[in-house]
Amino acid sequence: MITGVETLRPRLEALLGADAVAAADPGRWAVDGMTARLVARPADAEQIAATLRLCAEHRAAVIPWGSGTAMEIGNPGRAADVILLTERLSRLIDHDHANLTVTAEAGITLGALARVLAARGQHLPLEPPRAEEATAGGAAAVALSGPRRMAFGAARDLVIGMRAALADGSVIKWGGKTVKNVAGYDMCKLFVGSMGSLGMLTELTLKVFPLPEATRTIVTWARDVSAATALAARVMASPLLPTAITQVNPTAGAMLGRRMAGVLVRAEGIEAAVDRHQRDVQSWASQEGLETELLAGEREREAWQVIRDFGWRGDGGGGAGDLAVRITVTAGRIAAVVNELQAMLPAAGVVAHVTAGVIWVAFDSAAGTSALLASLRDLTRRHDGHLLLARAPRALKVAGDVWFPAPQALALMRGLKQAFDPHQILNPGRFVAGL
Ligand SMILES: Cc1cc2nc3c(=O)[nH]c(=O)nc-3n(C[C@H](O)[C@H](O)[C@H](O)COP(=O)(O)OP(=O)(O)OC[C@H]3O[C@@H](n4cnc5c(N)ncnc54)[C@H](O)[C@@H]3O)c2cc1C
Repeated sequence: MITGVETLRPRLEALLGADAVAAADPGRWAVDGMTARLVARPADAEQIAATLRLCAEHRAAVIPWGSGTAMEIGNPGRAADVILLTERLSRLIDHDHANLTVTAEAGITLGALARVLAARGQHLPLEPPRAEEATAGGAAAVALSGPRRMAFGAARDLVIGMRAALADGSVIKWGGKTVKNVAGYDMCKLFVGSMGSLGMLTELTLKVFPLPEATRTIVTWARDVSAATALAARVMASPLLPTAITQVNPTAGAMLGRRMAGVLVRAEGIEAAVDRHQRDVQSWASQEGLETELLAGEREREAWQVIRDFGWRGDGGGGAGDLAVRITVTAGRIAAVVNELQAMLPAAGVVAHVTAGVIWVAFDSAAGTSALLASLRDLTRRHDGHLLLARAPRALKVAGDVWFPAPQALALMRGLKQAFDPHQILNPGRFVAGL
């Protein structure tokens, strides 16, 4: 695709400085089996924009790269010539404590941001795996929500302003500290979740929240998945307002120390409210003859870290392997899907964020996995849901779109992609339907 990396490299070095451009080490900079040619480290938004314009001129495929913790997400792309890193865009720009907003460059890690916010009693409930390493830009570009989506919103709700560099070399700014303070289409919503296919996020303004006075997690261990599903449904239907209700099956329960089905109810807020959550959940559990365990402090933090990292490469925990699938359905359908999954894949790990309508399934790809994926897609279709094959060997990914079902209005989306990226240089082929 590239018309001469030899000619592009010296121009990139002239633009960014020779030490900011290097040949890509195939072992380090590969995306779904495609090895890039160059790695570039621009210093700011303007350098990113100028780099994109140069790459467009050379028809060089660009892979925006935050920390690479989620590079596996996406369809196998058509080309990867230049890895464009955001690691030098890691400055905090503004923390408006009173307004509950923070503005930072897209390459800042969520770990670094969390420390700055915690020092002033606030937090940002974006909860990807490896949050310590993941960047704000990467989290916004992928926009998968975590266990506390219902309580705090998803990435699209938390990003209220952005700056992005486009393939024509321009930098656009959108939104800001107050929600929707600009007329016209909400560009933030368009760019968040677009996987770097329309432009590169260089700066984000995010909504933050006060740290709660108290937080506690009540874990109920159940004799089987259907008992856990019933308790989760009871909490969901109750007047309680937990920030998360997450259900694990026995295979996933093993990563929390017990090969049992379980329900984690996370309560955050004033002490009295947290106590009330504990009292009610414990009484409902004991009515069913189920045992509960309380998590607080470090043990609570560790448990939710393990839950968040579930399905991420390296260790799906609880016997899960090299394949992770994310199914989203309406919250009212979760119970049925979780019970069906247990029957269909008893050895797989299943983590269901009940309030968010998100179910993660992780297992080892083996013979017959294509047929299994077909059954999972069929289950998703029957429950009017959506499925993302988040992590899988390339051979399984090339067999079909990792996003299922295909989006409606695809022609409109192709038109948008064409308008923003006429030479198809940004993450070419990696987004939905090969966009
Ligand atoms: C199994 C699994 C579970 C996950 N669960 C969650 C979850 O619960 N909640 C959640 O929020 N996320 C989740 N994620 C997504 C992911 O972990 C996050 O999005 C993460 O924050 C990525 O950060 P990163 O800096 O490592 O991004 P990278 O891995 O570097 O990039 C991720 C994608 O975003 C693009 N990109 C990176 N930076 C930019 C930028 N500045 N502008 C435009 N595009 C860019 C890349 O090209 C790539 O396609 C999950 C991922 C996996 C694999």
